[in-house]
Amino acid sequence: MENKQHFKLAVIPGDGIGKEVINEGIRVLEFLSTQSNSKFTFETDYFPWGCEYYLENGKMMADDGLEKIEDHDAIYFGAVGFPGVPDHISLWGLRIAICQNFDQWANIRPVEFLPGVKSKLNHPEKEKLNWVLIRENTEGEYSGIGGRNFTGRGARKEVAVQSSLFTEEGCERVIRYAFETALKRDRKKVTSVTKSNAQQYGMVLWDEVFARVSKEYPDVETDQWLVDAMAANFVLRPEELEVVVASNLLADILSDLGSALAGSLGIAASANLNPDRRFPSMFEAVHGSAPDIAGEGIANPIGAIGSAALMLEHLGLKEEAVLVNQAIKDATQSGFLTADIGGNTSTKEMTDSILQQLSNIY
Ligand code: ATP
Ligand code: MG
Repeated sequence: MENKQHFKLAVIPGDGIGKEVINEGIRVLEFLSTQSNSKFTFETDYFPWGCEYYLENGKMMADDGLEKIEDHDAIYFGAVGFPGVPDHISLWGLRIAICQNFDQWANIRPVEFLPGVKSKLNHPEKEKLNWVLIRENTEGEYSGIGGRNFTGRGARKEVAVQSSLFTEEGCERVIRYAFETALKRDRKKVTSVTKSNAQQYGMVLWDEVFARVSKEYPDVETDQWLVDAMAANFVLRPEELEVVVASNLLADILSDLGSALAGSLGIAASANLNPDRRFPSMFEAVHGSAPDIAGEGIANPIGAIGSAALMLEHLGLKEEAVLVNQAIKDATQSGFLTADIGGNTSTKEMTDSILQQLSNIY
């Protein structure tokens, strides 16, 4: 028998529908790892961190949390957020802590138009549309630099300062990653998005780095847009999008726009990569904990399952990743659709149908 790869995964289900959709991704991994032709086995360590943990312990994760997960091959993350816990506490206390400490500087967010899913976009060739957003994931507007209560010059009301941080190295590595990604795609094109007319220091540096790096990739077509115009392009000229690279905040906003256009926040997958592979990378659906539908068994698991596919790809199982994405498309095409994409399939049945399709092709 050939030697199978073995993976150790850190699983952080988090809150709300995070807990529900993570189970579905694990079911897909279990299916793949138990087939006769499977190339891998895996084990999981579960970490119960998130807002419930915060309400009991006053922190989002254990003090030695990062050490506990550092030796894993990958992190599979649900979502955090809970009514009563301010979003900036839950986000900084767990997700951003992991992204920044493990130097997961490239956040990959594919936008896919699934067959059978009603898109908000009126486009003649919708099902051919797909692009990937690459989000700088460790600095920019998420630098955490700033403070409140600076009341100099006799100001009587509170003042808050929030600074962005753009380093040449930080810009360069993510821009270069975008070009390398473009080289692997049929259409070789990178679009850079900033608001450098108004953000005249950091984003002008970004533009300069983009211009410099692009010279090294003569075969890759490029263009540069301001984010306001790009928001319109997402709706009006989506066929022009291929690889889109942007700062932390701007790419986050564009990725919700992209997944909503494609049909729902619930179908968007993402990978927080440490491409240098010094630290584990983290895979999570783009959506949050969605407390409005938590516990009802109706959350769409496609974003989480697509994120598991990105994890397989990162772990060297490209073929498996492609097949999972194909099975998702086959399932939606056959009419299995959760409520957010216009059907009444439950979370569990959605995964059942994906597994059914996977068993036909794997
Ligand atoms: P958080 O505070 O954790 O970000 P949120 O309330 O902002 O949570 P999101 O998960 O970001 O909620 O999504 C916004 C809305 O989109 C949800 O309230 C929900 O109605 C819908 N939604 C998001 N993800 C899914 C999903 N996987 N399946 C179905 N609907 C979803
Ligand atoms: Mg949200």
